[in-house]
Amino acid sequence: MECFGVGSVLHWFRQDFRARDNVALAAACRMGDSVVGVFCIDTRWFPAAAEKTGAFQATFWLESLRELSTTLGKLNIPLKIISTDDPVHAILNLAQKINAPAITFNKQYEPDQMAQDQRLLRQAATIGIPIRVFKDAVIFESFEVLTGNENPYTIFSPYKRAWLGKLAQLPPQVSGLPKKLSTMPLAGDPVPTAESLGYPIVTLPITPGESGAAAMLETFTRGRIGFYRRDRDIPAVDGVSRLSAHLAAGTISIRRCVNAAIDHGALSGCGGAETWLSELIWREFYRMILFHFPHTVHSAFQKKYESLTWESNPDHISAWSTARTGYPIVDAAIRQIQQTGWMHNRLRMITAMFLTKDLDTHWRIGEKLFMRWLMDYDQASNVGGWQWSAGTGTDAAPYFRVMNPILQAQRFDPDGTFVKRLIPALAEVPKEFVHTPWEMPPLLQSQAGCIIGRDYPDRVVDHAAARIRAIAKFQH
Ligand SMILES: Cc1cc2nc3c(=O)[nH]c(=O)nc-3n(C[C@H](O)[C@H](O)[C@H](O)COP(=O)(O)OP(=O)(O)OC[C@H]3O[C@@H](n4cnc5c(N)ncnc54)[C@H](O)[C@@H]3O)c2cc1C
Repeated sequence: MECFGVGSVLHWFRQDFRARDNVALAAACRMGDSVVGVFCIDTRWFPAAAEKTGAFQATFWLESLRELSTTLGKLNIPLKIISTDDPVHAILNLAQKINAPAITFNKQYEPDQMAQDQRLLRQAATIGIPIRVFKDAVIFESFEVLTGNENPYTIFSPYKRAWLGKLAQLPPQVSGLPKKLSTMPLAGDPVPTAESLGYPIVTLPITPGESGAAAMLETFTRGRIGFYRRDRDIPAVDGVSRLSAHLAAGTISIRRCVNAAIDHGALSGCGGAETWLSELIWREFYRMILFHFPHTVHSAFQKKYESLTWESNPDHISAWSTARTGYPIVDAAIRQIQQTGWMHNRLRMITAMFLTKDLDTHWRIGEKLFMRWLMDYDQASNVGGWQWSAGTGTDAAPYFRVMNPILQAQRFDPDGTFVKRLIPALAEVPKEFVHTPWEMPPLLQSQAGCIIGRDYPDRVVDHAAARIRAIAKFQH
């Protein structure tokens, strides 16, 4: 590899694709006269064939990295891109080649990532390269918000109270870009396209990159945040921030979002901002849970539920994952995620509960499918959301909570606006049947141009019967 200079601090970008308010990058710029940035395309995750990171997230990440690379270039920080199945080896190799006096990165909380970081720390110590790790992705570390007995919280509400009680210690937000460094130590690499990694071309529904994130936060806080409490559960309405992909990629900092919520009255009685802040705390709650209970990645948070058996019928999984359950709200939600890489939170709960409770399918199957479909995939939030929905997670009353997809749809999409938008076959179905099309009399079916079984599938299960079976299973 070409190397024009020595002694550059190496900053490893992982899920912090921004130049502003990036704690470890700012520290790297303070530490060295020159800085080199690096991103590893982890081939265990990235090529389309790995069936892990999906097309939407891969595209969002790479497009965000492209903008980051340009921004960094103006600061004389080259961005190296390395394709590898062993990032630890690749990072140490690069650090040695550029004679890095230190490696910086921001901490992550996924068990595999933490194990990898430990390996890096050990190997770096043996070759004498100092590593500097920083808190960046959270406001409070998992051990900074504990119960009176110094144990992790396992229920959200008391965690949130304790979290808010510490807000006086909110970490400062760094405004502006790091100062321009005097020399560009080596040339950066072109950022590949997702297509070149074997992914199909997808159209991103939001603008990626740091500038896209800043614009979205601005638009949200200028208007929708005030109505967030009222609108956030209505999928047909543009009522939420849509910032999740940015928060997952780190194109915006959590400090900036929390400060924005506070600036818009989250602590002084503004209902919308207060509720939005609460959602940001959910994100941190699930990171804390994953940190203290790493087994939750693959097994039940509540260990007593690990012995539950799941039918996981392939025909049911196929109906769910191809949007053919016959329940319009579920099918429309699956179309939303497959067409845009994003699904509304209310719909994530409805679809996840439908797969796990009505279709008696193991939550891990849904979690993996969401991983591939989501542009905002985040292991902590996804595992947390799936376990909560399946009734094996941090919910205090898990097994009585079996959402009725019909009532949920009638409450949150009363006119069927959302389902009709996503499922054209339902366009002419009258409002009273739009969430229960199987109940339409045959004459009405032909008048509406929606014959059940031909234009739209019959329901795959009867929710009432499925609910009784699900509760009995948990009671047993
Ligand atoms: C089964 C299931 C799977 C999920 N998987 C993911 C995932 O992979 N990645 C992800 O970011 N979120 C996940 N969520 C949480 C939530 O659905 C999304 O964060 C939210 O819909 C994103 O839209 P938004 O940015 O407009 O959120 P907003 O309503 O504007 O909320 C702001 C931010 O708060 C955080 N947040 C909101 N709700 C939650 C929540 N329930 N749990 C954790 N953080 C939350 C997100 O970072 C979000 O961007 C999942 C929820 C469920 C029920």
